[in-house]
Amino acid sequence: MHRRDALKLLALIFLGGGSSACGTGEGIGAGMASKGRTIVIGAGLAGLAAARELRHNGHDVVVVEARDRIGGRLWTSSAWPDMPLDLGATWIHGVRDNPMTDLADTLQARRLVTSYDKLATYDANGQLFTDAEAAHREAIGNQVRMALHNAQQRDADVTVRQAVAALTQRLQPSLAATRLLNFVVSSEIEHEYAASAHRLSAHWYDSADDFEGDDALFVRGFQVITDYLATDLPIEFSQVVKEIFWGEHEVRVFTEKMTFAADRVVVTLPLGVLQSNSVRFTPELPSAKRQALAALGMGVLNKCYLRFNQAFWPHDIDWLGHVSAQHGVWNEWVSFQRVAQMPILLGFNAADHGLEIEAWSDQQIVASAIETLRIIFGAGTPQPSAYQITRWATDPFARGAYSYNALGSTPSMRDTLAMPVDAKLFFAGEASHSAYFGTTHGAYLSGLRVAEQILEL
Ligand SMILES: Cc1cc2nc3c(=O)[nH]c(=O)nc-3n(C[C@H](O)[C@H](O)[C@H](O)COP(=O)(O)OP(=O)(O)OC[C@H]3O[C@@H](n4cnc5c(N)ncnc54)[C@H](O)[C@@H]3O)c2cc1C
Repeated sequence: MHRRDALKLLALIFLGGGSSACGTGEGIGAGMASKGRTIVIGAGLAGLAAARELRHNGHDVVVVEARDRIGGRLWTSSAWPDMPLDLGATWIHGVRDNPMTDLADTLQARRLVTSYDKLATYDANGQLFTDAEAAHREAIGNQVRMALHNAQQRDADVTVRQAVAALTQRLQPSLAATRLLNFVVSSEIEHEYAASAHRLSAHWYDSADDFEGDDALFVRGFQVITDYLATDLPIEFSQVVKEIFWGEHEVRVFTEKMTFAADRVVVTLPLGVLQSNSVRFTPELPSAKRQALAALGMGVLNKCYLRFNQAFWPHDIDWLGHVSAQHGVWNEWVSFQRVAQMPILLGFNAADHGLEIEAWSDQQIVASAIETLRIIFGAGTPQPSAYQITRWATDPFARGAYSYNALGSTPSMRDTLAMPVDAKLFFAGEASHSAYFGTTHGAYLSGLRVAEQILEL
């Protein structure tokens, strides 16, 4: 028997209701079958939001997830029991009117507010910025924003790097100014959008909308939200989807282990996974969708948490900036001392350097981080007592941190990505939200959107 035949047989057994995983088990009422069955691929925020909404409206749903955990790019580590740490999303960005705030309020989840005003910036020699340096940085920041604004007025799009190229040439005689320019591009743009200035579209890099208000993080980790959304949902773990067949009468989802059959499927696979072609669509997706998938960018942002016996850095700050000699190296740090009274520093690396260090060993990454901290805090800077490191680009079920608008893409491509096909294939996930891509609230809202589309069928 061919493998595919064996899988089909399994599917038939599965459809016969022999497994609780097919969604006919506990807690699902008899009326549900009449509304049809939906397979939701991915137990991240988008998938959980969609599945929960459908189930609450009486639909028969099963969530199929490659990992052995929920959350996807929202992942709270409990490796340090006294301090849950988020390896993926950390903050509710802009708490006012943000749907993440509503969920957190429902759960009465305790939150802490970090502030960009509580910032200390150090120059390439590790000296705290003088007033003159701070003013110079501000002036360069304004010039960068002006150069990008001007680029957005021109018909032809260019990369962010090309848009600020004239500034680079003008500043070339001064090494300090060039480093400051690179620092501004890295910390204000590449860390924010998780993408290289060489790839970001000057026209569209900042097309997303924002919520107003503070940035808040969860005392017990962001996972409180996904735990809540996943309550009572039938989730099939460790099921790596390899193929999605969408026929006239039904859809079949082939994983490495079995086949799931249903009336429709909600695809919340990350953009990087869809771009990698590790999941095959049969028949292939419409060409507009394939073009959108190819044009949008999947960015990189990595975290390195360092735990020390005590904080040797200023206790009253949340953010540390460092103007590195080399572009984009350990430019941004968060301290957990003020908000959580924990001697923990979180160092970020985004875009090209963020990708480069994924090939390094943990020891090399920690050594490089400490080298930077020694420039700032001196040779006596201790080794950390523990660390936690992410590698989102090489994670086969993420293939990056979050999506960005690359040169050659437009925001409307996200709407193309979001469009259902033949009332069989539905798409959600942060990349499919044209207003709030790259965020937890974008992922969540995309899940609600897709549920609404199905409920309206
Ligand atoms: C380092 C980092 C920092 C971030 N910081 C913030 C922040 O502070 N605030 C904020 O709002 N947002 C932040 N984000 C973005 C936010 O985490 C994401 O936008 C959001 O979590 C994406 O949710 P999603 O459901 O679209 O995708 P995912 O969470 O990636 O869910 C997709 C699911 O599909 C599964 N999957 C993948 N391949 C397969 C397969 N073949 N078969 C079956 N299942 C599969 C995955 O395992 C995953 O569970 C950050 C992200 C990262 C990585």
